[in-house]
Amino acid sequence: MEKNSISSFTEEALCDYIKGFGQPAFRGKQLFKWLHQKRVTQFSQMTDIPKALIEKLEENSVIDTLTIRKKQIGGDGTIKYLFALADGNCVEAVVMRYEYGNTICVSTQVGCRMGCRFCASTQGGLVRSLTAGEICAEVYTAQADVDGRISNIVLMGIGEPLDNYNNVMDFLTIISSDNGINIGMRNITLSTCGLVPMIDELAQRKLGITLAISLHGPTDEIRSGMMPINNKYNVDELIAACRRYQHTTGRRVSFEYAMVNGVNDSADCAKQLSTLLKGMGAHVNLIPINPVDGSAYSATDAKNVSRFKERLEVLGINATVRRRLGTDISAACGQLRREESTKAGE
Ligand code: SAH
Repeated sequence: MEKNSISSFTEEALCDYIKGFGQPAFRGKQLFKWLHQKRVTQFSQMTDIPKALIEKLEENSVIDTLTIRKKQIGGDGTIKYLFALADGNCVEAVVMRYEYGNTICVSTQVGCRMGCRFCASTQGGLVRSLTAGEICAEVYTAQADVDGRISNIVLMGIGEPLDNYNNVMDFLTIISSDNGINIGMRNITLSTCGLVPMIDELAQRKLGITLAISLHGPTDEIRSGMMPINNKYNVDELIAACRRYQHTTGRRVSFEYAMVNGVNDSADCAKQLSTLLKGMGAHVNLIPINPVDGSAYSATDAKNVSRFKERLEVLGINATVRRRLGTDISAACGQLRREESTKAGE
């Protein structure tokens, strides 16, 4: 019998689950706190839960945990983890240290099926989606290992969060619960390559999270060359969805723009980008692409990145050049897992 991932249940779902064992709902609340506030990894550690219930839970359920397979610390303090899941698959998470606190970048899938040409995460395709409990376990395992509180989360690791929609929504509910680790929605950013119908669904939930779009190209020609998803939902459809999202949620959307030498970094591109985002109050994060093995792309040099930023600003678009934290430890999305599995001869 396949066991239920008990750490994937929202508090409400957990109370229902527990009622199924003939238990009062308050036990669900107690269990939720053990799992997400005290963050125990074994049922036997739940000292105020009756023994008979513990035994039943052990029979039927599993707490998602993961182990640190590898840990690298970069010169700038960035910590990169390779986590092993219970089934032996690996995912990555990165903890970045900023003045305002620790931010963790988590994975939402093992691999990815979006096929972006510059991204290491997608090279072996999608293996499987993570459960909500496994995504929580990334945060909890890192929190137990680092100094200081993890206060911010970005869903920018391996995988496409909106391609694992239900589990990611449960993760957001659990992780922001004040009976759990209590990381507020306003401190969470979800990044997507642009699954338009899911952006619309997400808008309806009116969460306080920040939505980030991996745009990377201002025209269909450029973007389709970099990101196959653009053949399904083109630039105009994507930006229209972002405008609807802003309208529905009252939250600004931000845009990621990885700069590739000779591909998307011309003066014309800056102009096209500014036209596209006009009137959105949008913020653009510019990041020189991190070249991955087997990719034809090389990074725009720092001088040209600054020039592109200045051009955008003259055209009325706010832009920041992202610090490249952890480049010395292959912290670009999916690189560590890829290195590990290539070594293993996958
Ligand atoms: N699937 C989601 C989240 C994961 S990727 C998304 O596409 O947004 C997180 C960010 O890293 C995305 O903006 C992605 O486009 C970017 N990225 C991936 N590989 C990169 C690389 N080699 N260099 C720079 N940015 C990269």
